[in-house]
Amino acid sequence: MREALRFDGKPLSATLSREADRWFISIPVAIDRPEPVCESQATVGVDLGVSTAITLSTGEKIDSPKPLKKHLQRLRRRSRSHSRKQKGSANRRKSARKLAKFHARIAHIRQDWTHKTTTELPRRFAVIGIEDLNVRGMVANEKLARSINDIGFYEFRRQLEYKAARSGSTVVVVNRWFPSSKTCSICGVKAEKMPLSVRDWTCAHCGAEHDRDVNAALNIQREALATVSWAGSHACGEEGTGRSRKTPAKPASLKQEITHGLFVHG
Ligand SMILES: [Zn+2]
Repeated sequence: MREALRFDGKPLSATLSREADRWFISIPVAIDRPEPVCESQATVGVDLGVSTAITLSTGEKIDSPKPLKKHLQRLRRRSRSHSRKQKGSANRRKSARKLAKFHARIAHIRQDWTHKTTTELPRRFAVIGIEDLNVRGMVANEKLARSINDIGFYEFRRQLEYKAARSGSTVVVVNRWFPSSKTCSICGVKAEKMPLSVRDWTCAHCGAEHDRDVNAALNIQREALATVSWAGSHACGEEGTGRSRKTPAKPASLKQEITHGLFVHG
């Protein structure tokens, strides 16, 4: 392989890795980055859901490719056929390679989507509110586990945070116990119960009709905005003193950006 370095700067190291039948080289480069200036003043709330991958407070729904669900049957078949092959045989080695390739492809489809989405959001919005989901607790629930792993919440948040820091946007992580789904985004009155199966509902107090996810995203947006205002800063153009991040954004090395294989399949 021969390729010009894509960044001007000092290469720091090189890490080789292998995934199925492909090789990767990761080269962190120290570069001078200009102070990020966020051009947008817009705020958005992001609801990370199960039925739709993510819903924005603007009403947009961005579906994830859900590669795992689609390929699950094929994956099962291949795993079964692989386990039937005799240990140590050439056939088993061959099927192991095939299986690894299949896993890698699923991972790549997912990574592509996550990268594109987490790049787009900080470009469009100065303040991005997301929920601090109890992912561990939710993954423990069998029914939800697969689709949540499929979307990859942890990875989504990790990428969103470092990309926002890079472009001068602020990610506000809204408290996990904030009742974003139950609260009416129009009048602020809380509904009694809101099981996951309810996708649309009408506020008993003000009569507003809500799409569950858009309503939640609107509440997250408001909460994020309140947090930022409370911290005494505007999103753009001022000294970065009031940025209220729960987790300080770490500078991401190139290596971190192409970390693979966070999720276990099957
Ligand atoms: Zn209401």
